Amino acid sequence: MSALHSLILGLNRLRNRFHNGRVRPANLLLLVPHCLQRCTCESNITQDIDRCNRCGRCNVADMLQLRDEFGIRCHLVSGGREAIAVVRDPAVKAVVAVACEKELADGIRAVIPKRVVAIPNERPNGPCKNTRVDIGAVRAAILDLLGTSA
Ligand code: SF4
Repeated sequence: MSALHSLILGLNRLRNRFHNGRVRPANLLLLVPHCLQRCTCESNITQDIDRCNRCGRCNVADMLQLRDEFGIRCHLVSGGREAIAVVRDPAVKAVVAVACEKELADGIRAVIPKRVVAIPNERPNGPCKNTRVDIGAVRAAILDLLGTSA
């Protein structure tokens, strides 16, 4: 991660600490990268995340479970440009975004002043393949933005 990306993520964390207004579920977007999907999965979830069979082999099933539990939006994207277009939807007021640090930093910059809680993915198989995410961190971010206690 470059120094600039570290700086953007750090400033964004600081901003979130002081800006703690509540967001309605309908205005909260959970944005997840396509690389979260198990690479051997045959479900075509790129066009429609609900094609996931929720087999539990990857965290896509967990993202859908959180979406349904909290009644928020959830979108799976294949790249940064698509992610920015989705976040620019006027109905989206805040975002919980999962991605690598570079994509997160670029996305935060591109959608200012929208509030983004950035959660770096885990990459046990290297970049862009079978990535994972800390579900507890995603849940905590959602609860925080909704102003709901656990
Ligand atoms: S949870 Fe299962 S069905 Fe859903 S995307 Fe992951 S591997 Fe595919």
